[in-house]
Amino acid sequence: MEYRQRGGYRDYQGYGQRNYRNNYRRNDYYNNNDQPPPQVKPKPRVEIDESDPNWKEKLSVPKKDTRQQTDDVTNTKGSDFETFSLSRRLLMGIFELGFEKPSPVQEEAIPLVLMGKSLLARAKNGTGKTGAFAIPTLQRVDPNDQNIQVLVLLPTRELALQTAKVYKDLSKHLNLEIVTSTGGTELKDDIIRLRRAVQIVIGTPGRLQDLANQGILKIQQCKMIVLDEADKLLSPDFLPAVETLLDFMPEDRQLLLFSATFPSAIKSFKERWIPDCKILNLMDELTLKGVSQYYAFVDEGQKVHCLYALLRKLQINQCIIFCNSVNRVELLSRKITRLGFPTYYIHGQMGQKHRNRIFHNFREGECRFLVCTDIFTRGIDIRNLNVVINFDFPRSANTYLHRIGRSGRFGHLGLAVNFITNEDRINLCKIETELNTEIMAIPAKIDTSLYT
Ligand code: ADP
Repeated sequence: MEYRQRGGYRDYQGYGQRNYRNNYRRNDYYNNNDQPPPQVKPKPRVEIDESDPNWKEKLSVPKKDTRQQTDDVTNTKGSDFETFSLSRRLLMGIFELGFEKPSPVQEEAIPLVLMGKSLLARAKNGTGKTGAFAIPTLQRVDPNDQNIQVLVLLPTRELALQTAKVYKDLSKHLNLEIVTSTGGTELKDDIIRLRRAVQIVIGTPGRLQDLANQGILKIQQCKMIVLDEADKLLSPDFLPAVETLLDFMPEDRQLLLFSATFPSAIKSFKERWIPDCKILNLMDELTLKGVSQYYAFVDEGQKVHCLYALLRKLQINQCIIFCNSVNRVELLSRKITRLGFPTYYIHGQMGQKHRNRIFHNFREGECRFLVCTDIFTRGIDIRNLNVVINFDFPRSANTYLHRIGRSGRFGHLGLAVNFITNEDRINLCKIETELNTEIMAIPAKIDTSLYT
């Protein structure tokens, strides 16, 4: 996907107004939570000749990604997706998504999930965790069973939409009903959607808890539950809702926890809910091999000037700039837009429709720069994003890891630049030590082959 430059665009809101309507109608994914409630009618079956011996040649596979990849994703035992005895219809979805071979976490997790094991899996950002749970859970769904069979929980609405899109793409030939249900949308629309025979529900815990308490989300028969970004879902903000949902489910359900970071607090949850689970840890080292990390010492008052210089110098496909507060996000976005770099911003205090619109348009490459708070640190997958700038340095090693993991997706190269003020110095050392990684002083010129 190429970045599409829009001449004359100065203000993201005006821009959004002009282009909103077209995108709104064109794209199902983005529309998911904004569209009027759908008619309750069965989906037409996708016709496909499963028995055709040349089925693979007839797939519409995306153009091959020839960019360099690190062994974060290539260091496998050599399995193929066919090794896992997946249905041909599911294999079609996998290949049409452009997945040729499983990544290390997929190779390890898929057989365990297929065997019905509960799992606690830790793997680096961008190494294919979504496929690692989506593929085997889809394989285990019975399309003739009208009950909800898989529940997938995510900590943010954007992430729920993104994950639902992966499920829908993978199951393109499977004829399953998948519903996304998140806060910030009309409850009654979800109620109408859940009246149908639905096999998979993907959403955020608060909304799903409401629906379960009202008896609308019926998960008494649901045997698989996934917690993606599990450590966040087990934080005090989400844990009560997650546990309520688990209480509704059968005792012998399969519980799958995926994340790049697992604090020690997860131990008590594991002991209570999945004492005998399998544990996968694919993080001998913590940071991504493909992401070069630099710091620049700056005074607070120089930050905008330094950012401007960087934006002019670097070869950016798409870039996320992180700030530590909502106010700073809005201010910075305006400043750099005025300096000639049209910029979107996103933070948790924006309305959901607005957030969806910005997320969708950024993802589509409509704008190159996005300023945001940590709402965007987790899971968000934007293929073209090659630069992350910490305008404000994060406070914890986990946040740092999730932020820089927005670049270097699926073993590709990326760049992370950190602005460090006097107060951040100690934190910089702490994070370097905790992650056992080296953040280097920024050189006068950064070799573009490191991140393009
Ligand atoms: P994580 O959840 O570990 O952060 P994702 O599941 O979002 O990572 O995957 C990161 C990117 O890698 C996505 O764009 C996804 O489409 C791509 N991807 C995942 N698995 C494969 C695969 N087996 N082959 C090629 N690309 C893949």
